[in-house]
Amino acid sequence: MQNCCSSTQCTDGSAAVSPEFRKALWIALIVNLIMFNIEIVGGLYASSVSLLADAVDFAGDAANYALSLSVLSLGLLWRARAALIKGMTMGAYGLLVVGKTAWASLYGSAPEAYTMGLIGLVALVANLSVAIMLYRFRDGDANMRSVWLCSRNDSIVNLMIILAALGVLGTETRWPDLIVAAVVSGLAISSAISIVVQARDEIATAEKTAMSLPVTVKIDESK
Ligand SMILES: [Zn+2]
Repeated sequence: MQNCCSSTQCTDGSAAVSPEFRKALWIALIVNLIMFNIEIVGGLYASSVSLLADAVDFAGDAANYALSLSVLSLGLLWRARAALIKGMTMGAYGLLVVGKTAWASLYGSAPEAYTMGLIGLVALVANLSVAIMLYRFRDGDANMRSVWLCSRNDSIVNLMIILAALGVLGTETRWPDLIVAAVVSGLAISSAISIVVQARDEIATAEKTAMSLPVTVKIDESK
């Protein structure tokens, strides 16, 4: 969520990525992709908008891990472009979930609480496992630390979904699901906006550097 690494920051490119860290990133990528699919299917099946809202985070994090793994083969400009596409996709999906949440608040019925809670629990286990797996890399540098913080914060969101499922059971209404969906999709949209803003900055910088390399070198020297 908020502290999730942006694609260009997870690893800074110059730092050698150890084989162990690469392997951990691959596992994290696969886990996040699987969970994205489970939450989409489960969210539709159980009519839970909070599961649909959380799915965007798994997709975004999967993209981050994929981009981290491609750090050595992609230049800064292409990574920034990929981040821009990712940010815009996340933002669009977030808005879609907000729309679906608004629709569900008017016409929806209570989600199927057991499926919702179970998938929330599976998501929690997935995020905690990734967090524990990445925990030993946290001292590597600030960027690896942000990868770890990302999984930890996502676990907190999963706990909110489990609590919302209990709330749905207890109240027999859809409101706990809707409230968590609103919070989660709001967080997703705000992080999508900051990803887009940062990616646009990086693209502008990279293009300026590419177009006027000698000038940039002079400016850097004068600093
Ligand atoms: Zn995340």
